[in-house]
Amino acid sequence: MSADYTVQGPVALITLNNPPVNGLGLATRVALTDGLARALADEAVTAIVITGAGKAFSGGADITEFGSPKAFQEPNLLSVILALEASPKPVIAAVHSVCMGGGLELALGCHYRIAALGCQVALPEVKLGLLPGAGGTQRLPRALGVEPALNMIVSGEPVKSEHLLALPGQKLFDKLAMSPDTLLAEALAFALEVANVRPLPLVRHLPCKHPQGDGYFQFARNMVKGMAKHFPAPLKCIDAVQAATQKTFVDGMAFERDTFLNLMWTPEHRALKHLFLAERAASKVPDVPADTGLRAIHSVAVIGSGTMGGGIAMNFLNAGVPVTILEAQPEALARGLATIRKNYESQVKKGKLKPDKLEQRLALLSTTLSYDDLKDADLVIEAVFEDMGVKEAVFRELDRVMKPGAILASNTSTLDLNHIAAITQRPQDVVGLHFFSPANVMKLLEVVRGDKTAKDVLATVLALAKKIKKTAVVSGVCDGFIGNRMVDPYIRQAGFLLDEGCTPAQVDRAMEKFGMAMGPFRMSDLAGNDIGWAIRKRRYVEAPQVKYSRTADLLCEQGRFGQKTGAGWYDYLPGKRDAVPSAQVVQMIEEHRASLGITPRKISDDEIVQRLVYALVNEGARILEDGIANKSSDIDIVYIYGYGFPVHRGGPMHYANEVGLFNVVAAMQRFAHNQLDDASFWQPAPLLQRLVAAGSTL
Ligand code: NAD
Repeated sequence: MSADYTVQGPVALITLNNPPVNGLGLATRVALTDGLARALADEAVTAIVITGAGKAFSGGADITEFGSPKAFQEPNLLSVILALEASPKPVIAAVHSVCMGGGLELALGCHYRIAALGCQVALPEVKLGLLPGAGGTQRLPRALGVEPALNMIVSGEPVKSEHLLALPGQKLFDKLAMSPDTLLAEALAFALEVANVRPLPLVRHLPCKHPQGDGYFQFARNMVKGMAKHFPAPLKCIDAVQAATQKTFVDGMAFERDTFLNLMWTPEHRALKHLFLAERAASKVPDVPADTGLRAIHSVAVIGSGTMGGGIAMNFLNAGVPVTILEAQPEALARGLATIRKNYESQVKKGKLKPDKLEQRLALLSTTLSYDDLKDADLVIEAVFEDMGVKEAVFRELDRVMKPGAILASNTSTLDLNHIAAITQRPQDVVGLHFFSPANVMKLLEVVRGDKTAKDVLATVLALAKKIKKTAVVSGVCDGFIGNRMVDPYIRQAGFLLDEGCTPAQVDRAMEKFGMAMGPFRMSDLAGNDIGWAIRKRRYVEAPQVKYSRTADLLCEQGRFGQKTGAGWYDYLPGKRDAVPSAQVVQMIEEHRASLGITPRKISDDEIVQRLVYALVNEGARILEDGIANKSSDIDIVYIYGYGFPVHRGGPMHYANEVGLFNVVAAMQRFAHNQLDDASFWQPAPLLQRLVAAGSTL
């Protein structure tokens, strides 16, 4: 049973009961219509109240039904709402806490609505690339007014019930209950008041007009177009609300339905749905049960207050967790502290942070030069220089001072976490927490699981990631973990494109048109070309069979390390971040090409995109095969949140599924023929070959 039925005097009470948020899955819909039928059949019942058990009225669709035929099985939400509208006895929705999506559409089908103070009200379908498909675009503008309804539908953002109730002329809520605790009693009393009202009011009968008519919708389209960019849904939301002002209710509903079904078939919706589910799945690790006990984290220590240490510390301060930063030198400590303060001050200047919050956060921060001051911390995160000798010394100290059970984490980008763990007497307590720069901004956190990392350590840091608003993905130990391991073939391929005839600007343009936040060369200039240079020098010795274009080395030999030196693949004017194509670099590439005897050829944008994206896909498949990532959706999360892969493409692995793995592998085989430098590059990962043979997907 996913809805409870009781009778309180002459009022029937139907309580949605499908934890956690009373999703409107099939069983809940059946229970709701059964309850309605019972109430209508009971002559003693004169009115019906619908509410939700627990922490929500209803969060809308049941995500376990996403994409399954069950979502449309009768009674579907449209039929349930029609049944409520048709009820000869008044139906009152008593909404509280969360009233979103289908939940709000359900309430809009009732004759009356009472909201508790603080209820979050939203139609968030646009965030999944859809529009509300059960009357939301037709009823909300009638109940609330065209402009506020359009804002809610296009943004998908929640608005508090009391703010909606304050809108002039609104008919969404008939009454506000001062707290969720009194809501039910007030709703039952209200039900008695309206028990004899006839005819019963219906939202569908309300007028729907905007004083400026179609001019307003044109204005709205112009506003939304730029923001919607790669997504069709926001503009379709405007079309549907406009239809509510132009058509009869019934025709408007048909328009909404058609538009909704068309959006369901778009790649953008599939990408957003994939990411929504991928995010939820990311924190689930196959062999770490959901009920694994967590270690308490009440205080954190950070070693090193450089670029990463400062940002990492800010995450915890923002979440109200006290932090102690340790540095080797007082000057470095002072510098680090000043940077943290400056970052907060700039947030205050931009109006993103209240001044008293700044002081509150800084009050949680303490500093030290002595390891002994860290002994009580529950978690310590090391962010010192990327040098194994330095890290070894730090972890020896940590092993000496930290209390038993403390979690010892490293932010290393490239070093062997198992080696670091083995420095200590407690490798089970060691884990990698690979933040991305700037660490207080970037949403991604790669959690690196060492061979000996304890399950409760993993579960604890995954839970902690949520607290500091990061999306965490678990990676096994390998060179570069998930993200940087995939960047390597991507950047190598970009280098080969230069050898064959491209300029850096042409490659970047093609990738940015595809939707990447930044092309590979702009990205390298931002990260610092010297970092890749150091990694290559190591790999030339350790893995001489792996070939790279020489162009990146030639660039570094000229000291062109990127934005920080004012010159990299591009030129940068002092104090500016705009990448200006460099004639000197183009000439260097041409001379290099000539020295190899290569005649440049014209390479299409399509080929550039395919070669770079499929390079990611092939390495991603190997990462899956090696067990470094648990699932392909984790890889998509890493690329979207850490590397600016376009959201509307759903991540490299999802994109490969969309293109069709058969086509991806066929393209790789084609590229293998024209590859100048390294034919083995395009050897498809065995996993891809197996999936193609099985007609399957990643
Ligand atoms: P950084 O040079 O900006 O900062 C390192 C800090 O550590 C300095 O303030 C230094 O004084 C301090 N330090 C050095 N040795 C120390 C010691 N023995 N005890 C205490 N403090 C010490 O470097 P960063 O960019 O912040 O990188 C730190 C770590 O984070 C590295 O392991 C790096 O690979 C990793 N990382 C960096 C990035 C990035 O984009 N910069 C991204 C992810 C991970």
